[in-house]
Amino acid sequence: MELPISHTLTTHTHDGVVYYAFPSLEALPFIRHGFSTRLGGVSEGIYASMNLGYNRGDRAECVTENYRRIAAAMDVRAEDMVLAAQTHTANIRTVTAADRGRGITRERGYTDVDGLLTADPNVVLCTHYADCVPLFFVDPVRRVIGMAHAGWRGTVAEIGARMIEKMTAEFRSDPADVLVGIAPSIGPCCFEVDEPVWAAFAKHPLFDSDCYTDDGNGKYHINLWEFNRRVLIAAGVSPSHITVTDLCTVCHPEVLWSHRATHGERGSAAGFLSLR
Ligand SMILES: [Zn+2]
Repeated sequence: MELPISHTLTTHTHDGVVYYAFPSLEALPFIRHGFSTRLGGVSEGIYASMNLGYNRGDRAECVTENYRRIAAAMDVRAEDMVLAAQTHTANIRTVTAADRGRGITRERGYTDVDGLLTADPNVVLCTHYADCVPLFFVDPVRRVIGMAHAGWRGTVAEIGARMIEKMTAEFRSDPADVLVGIAPSIGPCCFEVDEPVWAAFAKHPLFDSDCYTDDGNGKYHINLWEFNRRVLIAAGVSPSHITVTDLCTVCHPEVLWSHRATHGERGSAAGFLSLR
């Protein structure tokens, strides 16, 4: 398998499991993190092979083995993971060690959670993707971490800014200290939308002609990476603290899970983030 080359992310391989990481977060010895690919799991057919979604129709025992493998690759424990309950909201939930296993070894017990936040080193945050934009947050001063699932709805609802606000309110983070990583997801090359989606963005004061191209036929291509970056900067994040993926999931469907490229016949990727 030819791996797509990224100029902003690093690639890691461990016992056949391939995942991407952010150099800015790898420089922090107290952080473990990664974003999964399709490679290194045991699932078959349309789920081959690293499917991390229990809700996709795949065999649960395969998904569980995939979690075990990706956890080993990232040097975390699957039983410490806490999963979101993603429904394209901008809701963020603060979790602790008491939440370990929610969504993986036991029922979540919550709904409509698209972002997770913690300062507890005994928790591994886990969110799921197949084209939507993964946002990783680390405050190395307060030692607080967050993850957010930003589809187009979450992006226009500024889930990135909601995360910064919650980090500030609950853990006294200074936005200027926070590092953010934007992981592989649908790029400006492939995120074609109709008028109503474009109009939802066009109402936003941070949205301008640098965030989209007008195809002239009632279709537009929106740059979710750039718009999320602007939301983060407006929330006080330093531009130099934001790492933006250069890998589009739709352009690399053999390696990355893409809903659009597979017409929904797919497994799910996951992002993982933990304090040591
Ligand atoms: Zn693309």
